[in-house]
Amino acid sequence: MGVMISKADAIVIGSGGLGAATAYYLSKRERLSVVLIDKHHIGSQTSPRAAGMVSCARKSDLMIGLIKDACRKIETFTEETGQPLDWVHSGSLKIARRPQDAEVIKADFERGRRNGLDVELISPERASGLNPFLKPTGVVAAMRVGDDRYFDPPQVAVGYARAAAARGATLLPKTDALAVNIRTGKVTGVTTAKGTIEAPVVVDAAGAWTRQVAETSGIRVPLVPTRQQLVVTEPLDGAHANLPMVRIMDAAVYMRPCQGGVLWGVYEEAPRFFDMQSLGPNFDIKDMPLNIEVLRSAAVEVKDQLPILQTAQVREVRGGIPTMTADGHHILGPAPGVEGFYFASGCNVAGLSISPTVGEALAKWIVDGEPPFDLSPMSCMRFKDKSWSEARLQREATWQYRHFYGAV
Ligand SMILES: Cc1cc2nc3c(=O)[nH]c(=O)nc-3n(C[C@H](O)[C@H](O)[C@H](O)COP(=O)(O)OP(=O)(O)OC[C@H]3O[C@@H](n4cnc5c(N)ncnc54)[C@H](O)[C@@H]3O)c2cc1C
Repeated sequence: MGVMISKADAIVIGSGGLGAATAYYLSKRERLSVVLIDKHHIGSQTSPRAAGMVSCARKSDLMIGLIKDACRKIETFTEETGQPLDWVHSGSLKIARRPQDAEVIKADFERGRRNGLDVELISPERASGLNPFLKPTGVVAAMRVGDDRYFDPPQVAVGYARAAAARGATLLPKTDALAVNIRTGKVTGVTTAKGTIEAPVVVDAAGAWTRQVAETSGIRVPLVPTRQQLVVTEPLDGAHANLPMVRIMDAAVYMRPCQGGVLWGVYEEAPRFFDMQSLGPNFDIKDMPLNIEVLRSAAVEVKDQLPILQTAQVREVRGGIPTMTADGHHILGPAPGVEGFYFASGCNVAGLSISPTVGEALAKWIVDGEPPFDLSPMSCMRFKDKSWSEARLQREATWQYRHFYGAV
């Protein structure tokens, strides 16, 4: 680890879930020399702070297909990478408190069934029977999603990075990418704080810093770094690892079992966006300002359904900075107009669970010149020739963020 090299076939900037998985799948290709660089420690920024929930009942057939594949990769992670990954197949409960959200649940159910998911519409009482921390008061519809699961977030990026290194990739932690170099429309490499590495392929997987990295070579990319925070409680009577996770649609609150208690969080009503440039070059996500008041008012908002959130003792509050886009889709694949420049970003607060599939697909896209299936809804080509104001981007990203569970 950490030996500087001057030449590679591909450089991945950023060793979170998305970058590390991409580096791993690239390193599986024969004779491809891969470098994974990170300005901080490997996998140390937003990825380890996630909730680690996998949600299968998504808004499109494409997303359901991708997440089903990710579930398979999570199950076989240790077999594939030789690295540990703790995961629990708990299933989940999606909860509507308003008639309009009950309609969305119905549509989710139909789409889920069509895509072969284990989904079921159940009564509020049955939902409460499956997870007694959830009370039926005020619940108008509920859906059980048997396919959902959760995993231990810090293990994913570190596991993929170690597995990439075992296949010959070079890991360069504590190495700041200062510029992506481009000559006559082609990527030529990356200038880092420790020297220049030549390569015809560069992947910008810099998470909250994706825009900064792209802008070093004059590429604008429309995503907004957005705070997401959660609480881990002390152990609770009646909590156990297999209780189904709960998502309350209109309040945008989620909860899952964690270390004998629960972990829960909220998609904030007025999300806090960050301009990473203004936080300075050495900013570390661990220093992100948290706001526990936001969590307290979310607990009040769901007091009839999840009263436990108000009384449980808080063990840990943590947060990170995922990236939102205007249409809620990732930003993946080649950058318009620059040969060899790729993105793996725009995670929309659900990037860790899907990173195994996204990493494999992007590696194929890079090496074979095309993705394994149609990923055009995620392609950055959708922004080609479009301009957007920062205000509009933030307005649309706000809507996507708060409505992640499909509430209308
Ligand atoms: C509280 C919370 C709950 C969440 N819950 C879930 C969930 O349940 N399920 C889910 O799937 N997702 C969830 N997420 C989202 C998930 O964490 C992200 O989608 C995912 O981790 C994003 O990974 P990343 O690789 O884009 O970013 P990161 O993990 O932040 O990695 C980016 C890396 O790039 C590096 N970097 C940046 N700039 C440079 C540079 N110039 N040079 C070198 N390196 C650089 C950084 O140091 C960093 O390590 C949650 C997030 C939070 C914060």
